Amino acid sequence: MRKLEALLILLAGACCLALAGAPVNVILNGRVYRHAGVTARELGTGFFRSSSGETLYLAKDKDTFSFEPEKADFRFNNVRIIGSFPVRRRSGSSYFSLVDLNTVLRPLFTTSQSVRRHPLRKIVLDPGHGGFDRGAAGRRVIEKNFSLRLALRTAEILRRCGYTVLLTRNSDRLIPLNSRVAFANTARADIFVSLHCNASTDRRADGIESYCLTPAGAASTNQKRISAVKCPGNKLDPNNFLLAFELHRALLNRTRANDRGVRRSRFAVLRDLNMPGALLEVGFLSNPGEETRLSNAAYVEQLARGIAVGIINYHRRIYGKR
Ligand SMILES: [Zn+2]
Repeated sequence: MRKLEALLILLAGACCLALAGAPVNVILNGRVYRHAGVTARELGTGFFRSSSGETLYLAKDKDTFSFEPEKADFRFNNVRIIGSFPVRRRSGSSYFSLVDLNTVLRPLFTTSQSVRRHPLRKIVLDPGHGGFDRGAAGRRVIEKNFSLRLALRTAEILRRCGYTVLLTRNSDRLIPLNSRVAFANTARADIFVSLHCNASTDRRADGIESYCLTPAGAASTNQKRISAVKCPGNKLDPNNFLLAFELHRALLNRTRANDRGVRRSRFAVLRDLNMPGALLEVGFLSNPGEETRLSNAAYVEQLARGIAVGIINYHRRIYGKR
């Protein structure tokens, strides 16, 4: 699809979009937004618009970030990212919120200057729920059992790759959410990944959602309320995003599941982490077809490999040259 997008840009006679005297920053609803052309210059990307349609592109090397005015639904190399705020259009120019510039665009395009390079040896996997907290349930699959099965298999793969892997639970017991965070912080883990299944009253809903902590000053993806609260985990917003993104991308590559996007939430297990963290909703138990896939050992294996590859790609990426 990357090639297709590049071709689309060429065929559409795309033009490099100039700044043309527009302000570098504008303030809307008390929030700072930066001109997309200036953003492109800061990130060292090209900035294009297809002559057909509203889609705009930031592109560098093989990477393409696409967006549309007044929407927060972004794509990076065709992986869906739901930004904190819609891109705003003013006087014919597009503007990114500084929140999205700093926690999405910079980590993707200027990784080495934007994320913290930290050691990655010790991984905490957190199988969601347990004990009397069953989590979501389908006809056969119960979330607490599924998350443990997936965590145990993922841990095996990662250990073979040389990582130290700890689980917040190894059996069917309830661990309070704050104890899961305390466990990872006390263990001085290098990253934390929480594993869950989704459920919806809409039985057609399916696919994978990957979450990182909502940045301060933004609203979570599923909520409208903007909160300025800065949680301890917000110290690592660019890393949190990149971890969730790499996990999401690798899971989609492995499973070809419906892409519901990298999202934000102030989940209790993410708020107080001292290390980068992400929470994965790997499928909907409320969707009969997806539940059948999730009950299949071969599919669980693909999910486990996807998570392992996502972690390895994140590891490579924070030490890469980009
Ligand atoms: Zn859950």
